[in-house]
Amino acid sequence: MTLLNSLRQQPDAQGHFGDYGGRYVAETLMPLILELEREYRAAKADPAFKAEFDGLMTHYVGRPSPLYYAERLTETIRESAAPGMGAKVYLKREELNHTGAHKINNCIGQILLARRMGRTRIIAETGAGSHGVATATVCARFGLKCVVYMGAKDVERQQPNVFRMKLLGAEVIPVTSGAQTLKDALNEALRDWVANVDDTFYLIGTVAGPHPYPELVRDFQSVIGTEARSQMLEAEGKLPDLLVAAVGGGSNAIGLFHAFLDDPEVAMLGIEAAGHGLDKAHAASINGGTPGVLHGNRTYLLQDDDGQITEAHSISAGLDYPGIGPEHAWLHDIGRVTYGSVTDQEALDAFTHLTRVEGIIPALECAHALAAVPAKAREMTRDQIILVNLSGRGDKDMATVAASLGVTI
Ligand SMILES: *Cc1c(COP(=O)(O)O)cnc(C)c1O
Repeated sequence: MTLLNSLRQQPDAQGHFGDYGGRYVAETLMPLILELEREYRAAKADPAFKAEFDGLMTHYVGRPSPLYYAERLTETIRESAAPGMGAKVYLKREELNHTGAHKINNCIGQILLARRMGRTRIIAETGAGSHGVATATVCARFGLKCVVYMGAKDVERQQPNVFRMKLLGAEVIPVTSGAQTLKDALNEALRDWVANVDDTFYLIGTVAGPHPYPELVRDFQSVIGTEARSQMLEAEGKLPDLLVAAVGGGSNAIGLFHAFLDDPEVAMLGIEAAGHGLDKAHAASINGGTPGVLHGNRTYLLQDDDGQITEAHSISAGLDYPGIGPEHAWLHDIGRVTYGSVTDQEALDAFTHLTRVEGIIPALECAHALAAVPAKAREMTRDQIILVNLSGRGDKDMATVAASLGVTI
């Protein structure tokens, strides 16, 4: 007899989600990756590990994050909908977490794993600096040495986050190779890891990298959907009809989606950054990319005809990554999740709208998810429900938004 096939059982033993994922790494890294996988399996089965993770989620991060019915946002959508149409919009408030976004969930999980493995030095890559700040935060909390690789161009552009990381005790290393941005920082971090195998743990910021990273980051972030699922059942007595989340590497999106993957009545929409437009500069790996290998896994990438990775662009620094997690590539191919895209301008408009009608200033990343909501909601009836992941708060985006509105602050 065959068992019911669950979409939540991926990846396979080699880390494949369908044709994607895997572990494309240098021979020297293989023993490390295998050790990490062994230790992760042991941690996952250890109630003490889960208890410590849950305790920190409650008392340090501030979980559970609220599930909030965005009543006025819903009203403004209904004003321009046909009679009886306009779904109810709920927000999962990840922006209320310590450090202002979902990234801390993953950082707590991985630093507990690092400690369990006896590692004393943490390395990370960062683009705009959000993952670097979250990593520096947990390193301060656990008293571990922290080294963050950051493209030299990003160091210049993101001085406030560089300063935050240094305040938290991290060493920030500007990377001057390649385009001097995120993908170069990732390469440099991988190089460091190979050279410092004995004491170093590589804390990856999204559901990318070689197996088992996409799986373990997903597991740590899936607290978002697990909470939201029971909060929704309590609030409405039923599951939402549609989930919406912004997709950079894809960690907040899969964190929300995963608990619902086996509920066929729940539709899912991931939103990529269309930047200036899909025919111009963007960061939409599925909508505007092709499969290839980057950072140890096979997935959809932004690349030219020679397989050279091209620069991603988005007004939102956190979506500015030229790839996407392999689980999303697979969920796209099998049609379980739909992937749409939203431009810089549409995201800015949604950012302003939420701020004005709900008194919540969202991060530019999740403003992309919000921008896709009104059109969807208007196609749905009033008794239907959309749940949007509000992955972060917008404080970090003040300079970017002001500049785009022509305001000097
Ligand atoms: C980093 C970031 C993202 C994008 O990363 P994912 O791994 O796709 O979640 C989205 N929202 C916020 C607030 C972020 O900081």
